[in-house]
Amino acid sequence: MQTMKKTEHKFRPWMAAAVLLALLAGLGWFTQTGTLWTWDDLHRLLDLPMETAALPAGEEPSAAVTFLDVGQGDAVLLQSGGQSCLVDTGHVTAAQDLLREMHQQDVQALDYLVLTHPDADHIGGALSVLRQFPVGEILVSSADIDPEASGWQDDILWEAQSQGIPVTAVQAGETFPLGEGTITILLADYPSGGGTNDRSVCLRFAAGSFSFLDTGDAEQKAEAELVRLYGEQLRSTVMKAGHHGSSTSNSRALLQAVQPQAVGISCGAGNDYGHPHRETLETLEAVGAQVFRTDQLGTFTITWDAEGLHLPDEEAYDEPAAA
Ligand SMILES: [Zn+2]
Repeated sequence: MQTMKKTEHKFRPWMAAAVLLALLAGLGWFTQTGTLWTWDDLHRLLDLPMETAALPAGEEPSAAVTFLDVGQGDAVLLQSGGQSCLVDTGHVTAAQDLLREMHQQDVQALDYLVLTHPDADHIGGALSVLRQFPVGEILVSSADIDPEASGWQDDILWEAQSQGIPVTAVQAGETFPLGEGTITILLADYPSGGGTNDRSVCLRFAAGSFSFLDTGDAEQKAEAELVRLYGEQLRSTVMKAGHHGSSTSNSRALLQAVQPQAVGISCGAGNDYGHPHRETLETLEAVGAQVFRTDQLGTFTITWDAEGLHLPDEEAYDEPAAA
């Protein structure tokens, strides 16, 4: 494992928020209202979209992002503080690979299963996952709970219902605690007028100084909306490349806002789409991101702890079998 030093003097939205909190607390005292401003008040007042874990100063959490090799599809395992969230489940033809990889990562249960959008290469393994692992809650973009509108698979909903697993249609701004951090929904069911890709749930996990961004298969219209809504607040340590590294996603504007240190691309070796596209790799290089690919490494993990970011040692990985 390589170790990358944490970036010093990095802009942290919570620092600005803390200063504002102090000012507002002072104002509350000055006006003799007796108001005690809480963190929640501040978020409501300023409409702050990002959540940061409440860790003691100077302490860093542990977190891991594992890009599970499901060939041409997405399945990303996010873990922190003993809790797990799986974002997408690959294609149904890779379901057995997915289950094996999850067992290899010692997954016992999922606190959340996020299905970013109802395309086959994202929800195909969901039924198998639900039958193999206890799942706390399923998060979907709002269109997905209307079978008539989206082609959302009835059998996944049926299985969730029969097990009593809540299925939540998420909305931008909602937050979900995960281990030592928080998942914030940035965008969901964005009506770009295009296909299902732009309706992807886009989420950001933040814990201490670490953050991870996953935009599913969101393409450039949804990415533009993310940049418009959040700007530099999108900055994230690690990012999953949008839409398997397609050039229809991964716009320069988004990547310049995110400034990722490491980017994982989930795609199958020799896939029919030519993913990842050359333009995407050039953009990633231009913003200085280190790139890791499931088609080259198979399953790989990026971790964060008190020492900073730990990237995969590429030489330690065997070539995966062709998809
Ligand atoms: Zn996809």
